[in-house]
Amino acid sequence: MSTAARLVVGGDVVTMAPGREVLTGTTIAVVDGRIAALGTAEELRARFPGADELDATGCVVAPGMINAHQHTTADPLTRSGIPDDIDSQRAIFDWAVPLHNAHTGGDDEVSAMLTAVESLRRGVTTLIEPGTVAHPLRVAAGLRKTGIRARLNGWGWDAEGLPFSAPADEVLARQEELVRALGTTERVSGWITLLGHDLVSDALFQGAAELAERLDTRMTWHISPGQNDIPGYAARSGRRPVVHLHELGVLGPRLLLGHAVWLDDAEVDAILETDTAVASSPGAYLRLGQGFTRAARHVELIRRGGRVALGCDSHNAGDVPDILRAAMLFAGLSLDRGDAEPVHAHEALALATIDGARAIGLDDQIGSIEIGKAADLVVFDTTDPVWTPRGDEALQLVWGMPSHTVRDVLVDGTVVVRGGQTQLVDYDDLRACAAENAHHLLRRTGITPFRRWPRIAAAELELAENMQAASGGPAAPEAEHRAAGRTGERVCP
Ligand SMILES: [Zn+2]
Repeated sequence: MSTAARLVVGGDVVTMAPGREVLTGTTIAVVDGRIAALGTAEELRARFPGADELDATGCVVAPGMINAHQHTTADPLTRSGIPDDIDSQRAIFDWAVPLHNAHTGGDDEVSAMLTAVESLRRGVTTLIEPGTVAHPLRVAAGLRKTGIRARLNGWGWDAEGLPFSAPADEVLARQEELVRALGTTERVSGWITLLGHDLVSDALFQGAAELAERLDTRMTWHISPGQNDIPGYAARSGRRPVVHLHELGVLGPRLLLGHAVWLDDAEVDAILETDTAVASSPGAYLRLGQGFTRAARHVELIRRGGRVALGCDSHNAGDVPDILRAAMLFAGLSLDRGDAEPVHAHEALALATIDGARAIGLDDQIGSIEIGKAADLVVFDTTDPVWTPRGDEALQLVWGMPSHTVRDVLVDGTVVVRGGQTQLVDYDDLRACAAENAHHLLRRTGITPFRRWPRIAAAELELAENMQAASGGPAAPEAEHRAAGRTGERVCP
């Protein structure tokens, strides 16, 4: 069905097309969700009379960002609730897994919506959910409501004694059913998702690869974010994890490996030979202390032609689904580590957009602003100080981390964020639901979110004042700042 055209008028368009052109003062015509034309406002108004207009004059317009590894459930309802001084195994098995295990369908839907809304408001228009999902149809429903583009499936592992674990054939049957229910080409559709690590049998890995081929979809799983998988695979087969996967015949262009941080030479070669993609989540590696700066070879994969995308992992690891932050960390860590050919801002922005799209197999549809592609667009309000004065767009987008200046977002040409507010979802309602669901979830699991410092209710403030009096009271820097400001003298050069 043909829909009316929409014009995104007069922005500076960071195309991420092969020539990396930045088209200044350019209008984008969108028809049926796709980019139909690029040109001057006058020209396109004449060509598409009566088109709805979104004024982007003075704004920077970029392609929607791609988050190739983003858990959408459990963590959003317990954000900043898992301590950051425990190792990743404890964070996962003492905290995250019990929370996932207690999730109702409603919890899944609400937390997925919250993740999607947060992502969209930061300019992320596509996310790959790596499969820690108890109720995938509810997650799909929640994601769909927000307008985001996503790929997902349910929990896939067959190690014994774990929640959601099942024999390999049962896991595969569930995954197939979900892909058939969601399709493979819809805005929210199905992938094959296994947990990976050392918690999946060879039969399940191989069955998943066959299933992805048969259903013509893609797949993802976790491997080697830290060093824990290495001894597991040494005991299992005497081989390194990725070499083992290579021997099984499950690597290939349909596979996106989450992490693959700790790789030896043979594993790097196996990934490149098979055109396997990798999702790198630098924020999570830092928070969990997984050794990214010591071990990661993601830049080497890029230099040798590999497919690498960025991710943010989960709300208690990467902490925020912000791909521009991931891009900044990826570039900064590459530079600081002294990589021979480090990744700078321009390449990091490509990882966040067109190269990320290539890694997830959607580069013919998204990742750049080109005629024929889906209109996944992000309009940045450049009146914010971070954009003042305007400089090189890639430097400003990556090093400035301006995701707080995202004003409007379109997915498939639909305006899903306008003036910083989600358009398809009532955010106030969602917030209230998230608080309520989180409360019940924590009650059911018996988990108390981590809080290190004493929390003092207003009714107990008398006690707090006494404590301050005893210690001489707090300094008053704010008052000093105010006093300095009152002189009213301008300090321009
Ligand atoms: Zn993950």
